[in-house]
Amino acid sequence: MTQNAASLQELIAKYDKPAPRYTSYPPAPYFKAFDGAPRYLQLIEESNSKGPKNVSLYFHLPFCPQRCLFCGCHTEIGATSTFIREYLDAVRREASMLLPKIDKSRRVTQIHLGGGTPNAVPLPELESLLNEVRKHLQLAEGAEVAIECDPSLLTVDKLKKLSEFGFNRISMGIQDFDRKVLDAVHRRIPKISAADWVAHAREFGFRGINLDLIYGLPHQTLETFGATLQKTLAANPDRVSVFAYAHVPWVKGHQSELDKFPMPAAAQRLEMAMLTRSTFLEAGYVPIGMDHYVKPDDELAHALANGHLHRNFQGYCSKRQTGQVYAFGASAISQLEWGYGQNIKELDLYTQAVNRGEFPLERVYYMSQLDILAREAINALMCFGVVDFDAVSQRAEAVGAIGDQYRNECLRRLTPLEAEGWFTRNGNVITVAKAGWLFVRHLAAALDPRQEAANAAQAAASEYPLKNCATVDGESDNPPQPRFSRSI
Ligand code: SF4
Repeated sequence: MTQNAASLQELIAKYDKPAPRYTSYPPAPYFKAFDGAPRYLQLIEESNSKGPKNVSLYFHLPFCPQRCLFCGCHTEIGATSTFIREYLDAVRREASMLLPKIDKSRRVTQIHLGGGTPNAVPLPELESLLNEVRKHLQLAEGAEVAIECDPSLLTVDKLKKLSEFGFNRISMGIQDFDRKVLDAVHRRIPKISAADWVAHAREFGFRGINLDLIYGLPHQTLETFGATLQKTLAANPDRVSVFAYAHVPWVKGHQSELDKFPMPAAAQRLEMAMLTRSTFLEAGYVPIGMDHYVKPDDELAHALANGHLHRNFQGYCSKRQTGQVYAFGASAISQLEWGYGQNIKELDLYTQAVNRGEFPLERVYYMSQLDILAREAINALMCFGVVDFDAVSQRAEAVGAIGDQYRNECLRRLTPLEAEGWFTRNGNVITVAKAGWLFVRHLAAALDPRQEAANAAQAAASEYPLKNCATVDGESDNPPQPRFSRSI
């Protein structure tokens, strides 16, 4: 291990504690019990005039034929085709209730199907979901229509059909190429190589083709993961997301089955994270946040360069491509400019509520001015690595005492971290240093007015992390990841 890695390792030992992923602010554990439709309907109504005009739609399809042992997602294993059909009927019904409330002059710029494994659902069901959207709203020219896929359940014909339905962006869960690792976590081996999948997807017009990897899994070593990174590069994807596995069997009991295997220790995970970064940077990929890498001509690289990078439950996106998120399906979270609404998590209860003609909400949150400030600051940090507190106050329309107090509190919480060399400060502007990206969630936590509150510890106790899932119990990740994962 290099000197640099050794000192980083010391830092990890010092800061080896959970931190929110901040795919939303506030994180979902702070949402409150749904208190009746009127106020939420008002929020939907206001979303037509208050926030970005762009409309993003998220559909949660929580079905998988078998469980990956690292899974932290909210998904149903081995559901019958009847159950899946009834669920999809409910999702379409929910969409037919809510979509008419969105102003018809607004355009859909993004549709995202996450799960679970959306491509485990019969293809005609997916087509009919898109048709339901088209019945109510018009898609913008060049709208992104994305789907998360398990390549082991895909065929070339299915991929072609998806493109004919209108899907134009795909994210494939690779996780690792090493057979021993995949066998241990109960992940099926795709019949077609990742390189062929990427080539086929490109041929059918998909763009922003993404491969997901996870480090920290059983049997992984620096050497085997290095080989996985090289195979990923050889597959030539437009984007790569590399997530850290957090082992939390006390939250997700099935993960305990992995306890019998050797798992990489914190130091090895650190080396894997560093190797990942150096591998993709040397190959010319542009880093997006702490764990995403994209080609220089990818839309996200352009968004980073021109200041339009954004982040929501679906992950990183451009402001051109995303707007306020209206989400459908069990546990899905709508992410509006002035509030959040999370659906009932339990599938039966969700379906029953929709069939009664109710909005199937379980929890909601209405933003305060301080929340807006914190969201602006945390987004700026996680997207660009720069927080200009004066600009944040202006964007949040919170200049004056509240903006000043928020900035002063943040700087107070940041001060002890300055000595670690994670950021530099120039007046009211902080900039993340190279080493700081590995700990960016801890910096974000310093921008979070709640983090010091007494209930934060309790909220964190129920957190768990993981991979690329559409929603997770209790948190904000309408797909990706579990709520609180460790930085490394
Ligand atoms: S990790 Fe993904 S594919 Fe595997 S069980 Fe969980 S949701 Fe399904």
